[in-house]
Amino acid sequence: MATESLIRDIRAKVRTVPDFPKPGIAFKDLTPVMGDGPLFARVVEALATRYQNEDVHAVVGIEARGFILGAAMAARLGRAFVPVRKPGKLPWKTLRENYALEYGTDALEIHEDALRPGAKVVVVDDLLATGGTLAATERLMRSIGAEVLESLVVVELEALTGRKALQNPVFALLSM
Ligand code: AMP
Repeated sequence: MATESLIRDIRAKVRTVPDFPKPGIAFKDLTPVMGDGPLFARVVEALATRYQNEDVHAVVGIEARGFILGAAMAARLGRAFVPVRKPGKLPWKTLRENYALEYGTDALEIHEDALRPGAKVVVVDDLLATGGTLAATERLMRSIGAEVLESLVVVELEALTGRKALQNPVFALLSM
């Protein structure tokens, strides 16, 4: 699992951008973590290792930053990758959930046939803020009949207590 040195190295690379995308938001930019190849490989390895002996059918990634880690993890594990996308992006029939986020409102969709009922999944996003995004994804997973083993984020903004909005367990690599 994640070692202290991995967590320290990620923390050192996360860039805080004040007032993006709106005044008052301190945006946690993870592109420097992904931009460091050896570090990105260690992150993917650590996260994939957490589930390699678990009965996980699919990694569900949330658009857009959840795709980056989620797809890398799914490929490393040899399990399915299922995208949860912003409205109007998926070509087939979809299920939809509306949600609020730290800076606005939006909706998320999944293909209605993306997961079979009872499928065990891990949901992945880059960051947990108010929890609205992951809560909407939990609801999508319930409508499709999938079982969320755990939701996974790299960074949890602990002060926003997003974890309280969620029903399933959340694993965060680090909190800020
Ligand atoms: P929330 O639904 O409030 O938990 O917000 C989580 C989603 O919004 C994730 O997909 C994040 O990528 C994005 N997000 C919200 N707040 C921030 C922030 N301060 N820094 C970076 N991403 C954020």
